[in-house]
Amino acid sequence: MRPMHRPLVLLFLAASAASAASPTAELLLELIRVDTSNPPGNENKLDQLLAAKLRPLGFEIQIFPTPVAGKTHLIARLKGDGSARPVLLASHADVVGVERDKWSVDPFAGVIKEGYIYGRGAIDFKGGVAVFAEAVMRLARNKIPLKRDVIFMVEADEEGMPYNTTWLAQSQWDQMNCEFALNEGGWIMKRPDGKVRYVSISTADKSSITLVMTAHGTSTHSSMPRPDQAIFRLAKALARLADYQTKPELTASTRQFFLTLAKTSEPPMSQYFFDLVNSKDPAAVARADREISRDVLLHAIMRNTIAPVLLNAGFRSNVIPGSAEATINIRAIPGTTPEDMIAELKRVVADPDVDIAVPRAGARGVLSEHSAPASSTGTELYRALVDNAGKVWPGAPVTPYLFQAGTDAMAWRNRGVPVYGIYPYPISNDDLSRMHGNDERVPIDSLEQGTNFVYGTLLQVAAK
Ligand SMILES: [Zn+2]
Repeated sequence: MRPMHRPLVLLFLAASAASAASPTAELLLELIRVDTSNPPGNENKLDQLLAAKLRPLGFEIQIFPTPVAGKTHLIARLKGDGSARPVLLASHADVVGVERDKWSVDPFAGVIKEGYIYGRGAIDFKGGVAVFAEAVMRLARNKIPLKRDVIFMVEADEEGMPYNTTWLAQSQWDQMNCEFALNEGGWIMKRPDGKVRYVSISTADKSSITLVMTAHGTSTHSSMPRPDQAIFRLAKALARLADYQTKPELTASTRQFFLTLAKTSEPPMSQYFFDLVNSKDPAAVARADREISRDVLLHAIMRNTIAPVLLNAGFRSNVIPGSAEATINIRAIPGTTPEDMIAELKRVVADPDVDIAVPRAGARGVLSEHSAPASSTGTELYRALVDNAGKVWPGAPVTPYLFQAGTDAMAWRNRGVPVYGIYPYPISNDDLSRMHGNDERVPIDSLEQGTNFVYGTLLQVAAK
């Protein structure tokens, strides 16, 4: 991007907050007003809205149906001269549902309040749809000659549903193939004073491993309980897991991430971050782990996490059941296998009458998210993200990051295409905690900064 003079930026922002918002903010308001809660999603409504804006600017539009009526994927392509392979921006149209009575505003009205846009998807990921769309439309409006195609994708079913990009890639990989891609993922976190503390770009996602723990006992009349009751046995096994903490396992990107936090924090936290990465003293590492783990996000990205999510036992009040089951969801550091986790959990539970295994095919509530290899930071796109973050947020460190959950990046990463994840707007910890929760919101001025960041990045990698 062409760096703007700071006071001009501030003037512009003050004006935009008072009256009409920026084009990105205006677009986000429109997107929020289309309810794409999934299920059912109704992503096609959003695709049509965007296609009507993109087509007149010269984008080739394709809309791919799925077996579900009203659920489609949009792929918009701005053609380059073909001398380099495409760059792709992946975003998703669907949002998770809402607990409407817990919101202070209508989640689908697109409300501006105190410098924020409120609404479901403001962060995840309609804000990103708006930023990516506005950045690619700016390329088209400015008639930038391109050496590579710029592909903008708006996906269906990203929020844990079946007709997602992995499904689409089975038949339409040619349309999604690219040299590298941007997706949701890392965070641009603000300090309490509003300055950007760091920019984290995800290069890998944690994987999801689901296991079923089954405790066995004697099935009998509830009037004559025996010592081997399955439900008590399961409860004891769960209690052992509750008291257990997995060891920190730092990947190359999480090491760099925590060192960035060490440099951008005040003592004593700066020392804890440093100790976690570098200390040879197990007591110092354990203390650092304890202090850092008060932040649930940081706790999660440094280790395999264990969470019981479903329980199943018994069928009537006068029968002691012969077995009791708990479904355990593990969010794992890439490279961890189900077998590794089965062995670790068996060691902790230490009861031969408790089995731990992968669930039967088609078991209730099990989502499969496989691990894909991390993307290299040695690409032109990663370099451009770092350069442009430096222009928009001078002085803020940029670090690779292991995303704490799963995204649809695996459709590309599993085929060897590097994907970099970013929620392209500075937010606070408070804003982050509202994602998938109540009163989700994004700061209006962050949307314009994010658009400049993504536009500048695209200019650097795609302009002739
Ligand atoms: Zn998302």
